[in-house]
Amino acid sequence: MLPGSFVERKRACGRPNCHCADGKNLHSQFQVSVLVEGKPKTFNIPAKLVSKVRQQVEMRHRFDAAAATICGINLRRFLKDKENR
Ligand SMILES: [Zn+2]
Repeated sequence: MLPGSFVERKRACGRPNCHCADGKNLHSQFQVSVLVEGKPKTFNIPAKLVSKVRQQVEMRHRFDAAAATICGINLRRFLKDKENR
């Protein structure tokens, strides 16, 4: 898992002959945006790591969703048990 959010930014590289120079076919830069020691940080993701990092960030979201579901079930169980004493 990886913390934070997966972000896609569109940008022009600045080379006048590049396909991005028309301002429409921009480059994609993928980034992971994460709190490091309480401060927001953004890190560029190298192209070869994009799909791996995307999956790792997604895994964290699934993990959090599963934890929230379990906590909800356990809270209902706790409240039910409490009534039956
Ligand atoms: Zn370009």
